[in-house]
Amino acid sequence: MTVSWTPHRFTGGILALDTANTVVLRDDPEKTFDRFDNPAEIARFADAASGFRAAELGGRRLEAPLPDKIAPVVRSIRDTTDRLFRGAVAKGAVATSDLPGFLEACADGLAHSRTEIGAPGRPFGDPATPIAFEAALAVSALSLLRDDTIARLRICPNCSWLFVDRSRNSSRLWCDMAVCGNRQKASRHYRRRTAAREV
Ligand SMILES: [Zn+2]
Repeated sequence: MTVSWTPHRFTGGILALDTANTVVLRDDPEKTFDRFDNPAEIARFADAASGFRAAELGGRRLEAPLPDKIAPVVRSIRDTTDRLFRGAVAKGAVATSDLPGFLEACADGLAHSRTEIGAPGRPFGDPATPIAFEAALAVSALSLLRDDTIARLRICPNCSWLFVDRSRNSSRLWCDMAVCGNRQKASRHYRRRTAAREV
């Protein structure tokens, strides 16, 4: 079954976090699953992310013409990003022991890239041509290492997705209020009603 890459699946706020969140319910061994199990989804995700993450990418499109070939490096950047930054949210600091694997995965993503990044207005290079998804993913993941971003990383208490909280007073609780916030409210309401009935 193909995945529909809805806006909800891009609530991480940064390409590397949206990608980390393609593993669903990571901490539940019974229910967890990988939306990239079929590598064709990597290309479809890249296509959707080109739109949803256009601001981060400076309008440069992502391309993944050979998703089977890049699947291992994409998964490795994704999973080391998740480990490193999930740990950073929990501890409020980055564990150096998680860095080598993360940096090696990012290096693999950039190994075949020949572009220039970081110019004013061109954070991911010239928007006239597409950028390889695995290279852009590495650039996005490395950008998370900035102190001001680490301080704003959160884990959604409902679905355990990673997201960046850009709210002015840093008080965003859910990855997506419309989905996770409401589910939580509904289950609280249900518990209250059940408790009332039991009394
Ligand atoms: Zn959530």
